[in-house]
Amino acid sequence: MQPQIILLKEGTDTTQGKPQLISNINACQMVVDAVRTTLGPRGMDKLIVDQNGKSTISNDGATILKLLDIVHPAAKTLVDIAKSQDAEVGDGTTSVVLLAGEFLKQVKPFIEEGVHPRIIIKAFRRATQLAIEKINSLSVKIEKSNIKEHRALLEKCAATAMSSKLIHQQKDFFSKMVVNAVLQLDELLPLNMIGIKKVAGGSLEDSLLVAGVAFKKTFSYAGFEMQPKTYRPCKIALLNIELELKAERDNAEVRVDNVAEYQKIVDAEWQILYQKLDKIHQSGANVVLSKLPIGDVATQYFADRDMFCAGRVPDEDLKRTMKACGGAVMSTVHDINDAILGKCESFEEKQIGGERFNFFAGCLNAKTCTLVLRGGAEQFLEETERSLHDAIMIVRRTIKNDAVVAGGGAIEMELSRTLRDYSRTIAGKEQLLIGAIARALEVIPRQLCDNAGFDATNILNKLRQKHHQGNKWYGVDINSEDIADNLEACVWEPAIVKINALTAASEAACLILSVDETIKNPKSGGGDAPQMPVGRGMGRPM
Ligand code: ADP
Ligand code: MG
Repeated sequence: MQPQIILLKEGTDTTQGKPQLISNINACQMVVDAVRTTLGPRGMDKLIVDQNGKSTISNDGATILKLLDIVHPAAKTLVDIAKSQDAEVGDGTTSVVLLAGEFLKQVKPFIEEGVHPRIIIKAFRRATQLAIEKINSLSVKIEKSNIKEHRALLEKCAATAMSSKLIHQQKDFFSKMVVNAVLQLDELLPLNMIGIKKVAGGSLEDSLLVAGVAFKKTFSYAGFEMQPKTYRPCKIALLNIELELKAERDNAEVRVDNVAEYQKIVDAEWQILYQKLDKIHQSGANVVLSKLPIGDVATQYFADRDMFCAGRVPDEDLKRTMKACGGAVMSTVHDINDAILGKCESFEEKQIGGERFNFFAGCLNAKTCTLVLRGGAEQFLEETERSLHDAIMIVRRTIKNDAVVAGGGAIEMELSRTLRDYSRTIAGKEQLLIGAIARALEVIPRQLCDNAGFDATNILNKLRQKHHQGNKWYGVDINSEDIADNLEACVWEPAIVKINALTAASEAACLILSVDETIKNPKSGGGDAPQMPVGRGMGRPM
């Protein structure tokens, strides 16, 4: 008799082999089903309520998956690729999840029949490589020398990115705004140099783009209203100093035995504050911004000298002002001088809706801008911000890699045709596998049709026929239940979005296919782990 070998602790859960693979694929299908209906211009939105009762309405695949808080270890891969697509290119997050899910769904029958996952993975590698070569050879290069044309193209890409969002009615308005915003940045196109501020109220069209920094007026004390609200030009002192009287109640103990002594202490306090204020005044600054509070004495002092001040400025806004206007954030006033003041052409405080905003325009140093969004409910504004983020990312991408392809399923249909044609030239299992991958690519146009309520079979048949005849840019025409040349219809997407989505989706599929065993260690497994007895430390003997 063979002795029994115990390798793993009691309670360890292992599943392996084919059933494990199939169950992982099924889990991924569930994730895909969660975002399936959000794809495309006619896609629906999801309302997600988290455990704190905060609700979010979104159409963005990455946002939805992030909020869903998925625990299945294999299905988490899909969440990760959506996130990475969001970080890398900013758009195409739903598409990437959908593609990965469909890849897996199409190869599931092969797994069930016992084809080794390695062979499937090899087919995936080959197919992705072919597809990317095809995208690169098909993509339309943009003429950058003609500034007007270049602009028009960027606007079209931004409009396509927004056409599936809540704000699609206003996409013309916003695509101009987004392109303006991005073109104001320097060559590196840093994303954090575009500030987005939301002010509830008004209509979406009241949103405005400020060439410079803008932030909400901070809390202020009496005397603030006497300060001037416009300067041009303007010098800005950026501080990290508290300009407030430190009252004696604050963590200090001083023993005094007569009133004169006490008065001296109070006077000293005022003197210290006034010394600081004098230094700031002498530096020649008009506007004083501080991360820390600016009290009523200081506010009054600045008002008397025709200076403007704002305390408790959010860190991010202060940094953006510093980057835009130059200068440095000081934590002492001792060597404050003209060289370290930020400079800009004009400063103004303006009313926007129910809020007052401080505007700094004509900044010399870095190029920056701020979008002030207006609109109804807060959730609506948040979704608008996310949609604009997608559009901004797309415009940046298009400026950096200047190649576009037609969207609306056109590029996917063309890739599908290419792969199908290729599969006919090879023999063996790989032929069937590449054929399956080609079929999987059709999921994008099919889902676009389904979401719009079109007859997907009919439209896909028409598309297959067109692409077979060599009309490579035909895709779904969302406006008239038909097909159309989407390059002419100006449904454009940066090629890099598609390349990235394809690579990520096929990598995720390969990753899931190469896992054939999950071992859940009861200790690190979390939820179903046996509970430690209460009242005993982890390491203590029982
Ligand atoms: P993702 O998160 O993947 O970007 P979207 O909901 O933004 O998902 O949908 C993008 C899909 O919608 C792309 O395949 C794109 O080509 C398609 N699309 C966008 N605008 C149009 C349009 N006007 N007509 C047809 N398809 C469109
Ligand atoms: Mg999109």
